[in-house]
Amino acid sequence: MNTPTARTVDNRPLGSCIYADPGIFESPPPRNGYGTNRPEHERARRALAICQRCPILAECHADAVGNPPVGMIQGGEAYDDSGRPAGRCERCRRVILGSYNNARYCGKSCYEMTRLDRRRAEATT
Ligand code: SF4
Ligand SMILES: [Zn+2]
Repeated sequence: MNTPTARTVDNRPLGSCIYADPGIFESPPPRNGYGTNRPEHERARRALAICQRCPILAECHADAVGNPPVGMIQGGEAYDDSGRPAGRCERCRRVILGSYNNARYCGKSCYEMTRLDRRRAEATT
């Protein structure tokens, strides 16, 4: 059986992470210089997906805004070691876990699709 996470033991007994592997919520991957497809990115994506299905996502997110966690995933956001939330992809609005094109996109596909859209728009003008 999985161990409840530190967050759920204290004040989030209704959170979807209560029986999730706590390790996937800890230490989200660094944003810069590490690409986007390392194993820690996959773990962080699993944690963020659990948050998206959580019945108390809004409350948990609001708690984190006033008291940001450090180096953790909470309330659907990934916070770095300074407690700053990661940025959002300009195309799909997902949390950016690694760096791609100066941290504006979540990965190569969003970057390439945006470039393609721009080229199509230019071709029709
Ligand atoms: S939003 Fe995420 S971190 Fe917060 S209680 Fe739900 S699953 Fe846990
Ligand atoms: Zn994206």
